[in-house]
Amino acid sequence: MLRFNALNDVLKRTPKQIDYPSDKISEFYATNVFTQEKMREFLPKEAYQSVMASINEGKRIDRSIANQVASSMKDWAMTKKVTHYTHWFQPLTGATAEKHDSFFTPISGGRAIERFDGDNLIQQEPDASSFPNGGIRNTFEARGYTAWDPTSPAFIIGQTLCVPTVFIAYTGEALDYKMPLLKTLNAIDKAATSVCQYFDKEISKVNANLGWEQEYFLIDKSLFNARPDIIMTGRALVGHNPAKGQQLDDHYFGSISERVVAFMKDFEIESHKLGIPVTTRHNEVAPNQFECAPMFEETNLANDHNLLMMDVMEKIARKHDFRVLFHEKPFKSVNGSGKHNNWSLSTNTGVNLLSPGKNPKTNLRFLTFFINTIKAIHDNADILRASIATAGNDHRLGANEAPPAIMSVFIGSQLSQMLDNLEENVKAGKMTPEDKTELKMSIGKLPQILLDNTDRNRTSPFAFTGNKFEFRAVGSSANCASAMIALNAIVAKQLNEFKIVVDDAIEKGVKKDEAILKELQKLIKSSKKIRFEGNGYGDAWVKEAEKRGLSNLKDTPRAIKTMIDKKTKKLFADLEVFTEVELDARYEIELENYILKLQIESRALGDIARNHILPTAFKYQNVLINNIKGMKEIFGSESKTLANPQEEILRSLSLHTTIIKQKLDEMLEERKLANKIEHPEKKALAYCDKVKPYFDEIKYNADKLELLIDDSLWPLPKLREILFTK
Ligand code: ADP
Ligand code: MG
Repeated sequence: MLRFNALNDVLKRTPKQIDYPSDKISEFYATNVFTQEKMREFLPKEAYQSVMASINEGKRIDRSIANQVASSMKDWAMTKKVTHYTHWFQPLTGATAEKHDSFFTPISGGRAIERFDGDNLIQQEPDASSFPNGGIRNTFEARGYTAWDPTSPAFIIGQTLCVPTVFIAYTGEALDYKMPLLKTLNAIDKAATSVCQYFDKEISKVNANLGWEQEYFLIDKSLFNARPDIIMTGRALVGHNPAKGQQLDDHYFGSISERVVAFMKDFEIESHKLGIPVTTRHNEVAPNQFECAPMFEETNLANDHNLLMMDVMEKIARKHDFRVLFHEKPFKSVNGSGKHNNWSLSTNTGVNLLSPGKNPKTNLRFLTFFINTIKAIHDNADILRASIATAGNDHRLGANEAPPAIMSVFIGSQLSQMLDNLEENVKAGKMTPEDKTELKMSIGKLPQILLDNTDRNRTSPFAFTGNKFEFRAVGSSANCASAMIALNAIVAKQLNEFKIVVDDAIEKGVKKDEAILKELQKLIKSSKKIRFEGNGYGDAWVKEAEKRGLSNLKDTPRAIKTMIDKKTKKLFADLEVFTEVELDARYEIELENYILKLQIESRALGDIARNHILPTAFKYQNVLINNIKGMKEIFGSESKTLANPQEEILRSLSLHTTIIKQKLDEMLEERKLANKIEHPEKKALAYCDKVKPYFDEIKYNADKLELLIDDSLWPLPKLREILFTK
């Protein structure tokens, strides 16, 4: 049987020997990237400067320069035996996509040359019809094309040169995550830079940074292959909880097995060659769950790196006979996986705007960005919530282990105190010199406060952690761009509004600092209800949040509805990030993704229950029936008591199989009804409310069978085997 063969395979595995390509990581770091350094080496000076101006100031690169860049990229790539190139892009399917073309081009006279020019670099036409577009292409009858993003460097995978690109419809609508991300990064740059002028005229550029932490599970390839549900859906749809889960915390503190270490070392080497600054690795809470994190980077680059690394991890996992699971909740009984997004703003002058400075002036700057961020979350919590909503993440949010579906902000007791003081101490009307001195003193105390601000709340979805905010509700399989588009957009909007109000007050004769403080005070007041310092996992918070009027949108169809409301559309249109059409299209794509996921899960569960679980139960039923019959034959009436256990098990077995069969039939009926619905929103709701509830009921009964049936008959690797076999 596949299950026992798989278990045997696992026992025979040995760790692969992985050697570093050279003594120091720094020696092979970024060797597969066309870095700025390499550009300087391979490009004529004028072309190099033009690319740098494009990276730093968003200037256009003209055709002749693009030709030079392409030609030097090709020269460099060919020194590394590269034969093909591809535009690398991020369609809304969630994965990354590529279309390979060769450098090799036949020319007249039966000869051939290696060619890669500006046109090839700047634009490519993938067959866009197979990527989700939410009706855009039907409406506009436009095909999509990919276009070079010079702010993210080209890199080599295998023998292919990969050029990071955006993916756009010919009518201009974004069909990917990168395009809107770049637009919001531009919006936050403009908004934050202009607010920075209050504090420092030298500041001409603000970057939003992202430091992600990627959680994942590793399971053995053979066990994976013996679980059709995990193959089809990325998660175990059935499986009884192992006797031991994660209660002992022994995995979190335990040493990493040699086989896993070899895998980690291997994918880190490949990541380092790609210039991905992975630095940390450790076990996570659940058995076979791990995490890795790089140094933070500018958001667009950081996000490309995250996607690239997920890809590398999947490839390298196979080499080590593992499968990596990025699903948010692969196993019901143990913790799920997230991807914390650490976010901060930094300036061209080297200042982190979310880090308090050394004096009242820099602290006022800190408070400005800090408080405006809180206010942005307060006013737009639903937009943030929508940005992380997926079928997979629904299992995690609010499941007493991950941040709740209720958006709130944790800032620690000292900063809370500080904001409360500010709220009270900024006097109405004109401030006296004494008032101002007192305020300056209190603001001046910030660095000391933060120094011993050690309280960290792990249960908050959005926590301030010293010099950055950590958005913890992002799903492990997600493209971070979705969350970062939302976050940067809402903060940009808030900063723009702040600027208008403060400028207005200054124009009316109020001193700058006073105008800023007074507005901050208002923002503290009007955003108070989003701040929560307590236990985000507790039931008490759900009640409290309801009292405060905070939303608690527990499932994807309800959470993503925000994407198309008037307020969201206006916000994104004002920032020139999304048009209404784009948001409508994206909303439809999200609904479609959700429906498809649930449809596949429902089908996979149906298959596994009908083809694996019920037949096994029937087999064991026969064993018991024969046994009971035999007992009767031998012991006659005495068998009534002697065969009691067998009879009891037979009864339970029959009960659970009956329920499973009945629930499967009902689920199928509900699915048929749902599939008939044309309206995407109603269809998604039908899947959510009518089809999904059967998953748990069927699983519950299947798991009971797993406990009752002879282990040697059970066909599917059990969760204890998947999670604990070493
Ligand atoms: P945790 O305690 O949350 O697990 P880690 O040290 O594992 O923290 O991860 C912290 C992440 O935050 C890293 O990816 C790191 O690069 C990132 N980070 C640190 N400082 C900043 C910052 N100023 N802006 C954005 N990200 C940051
Ligand atoms: Mg973290």
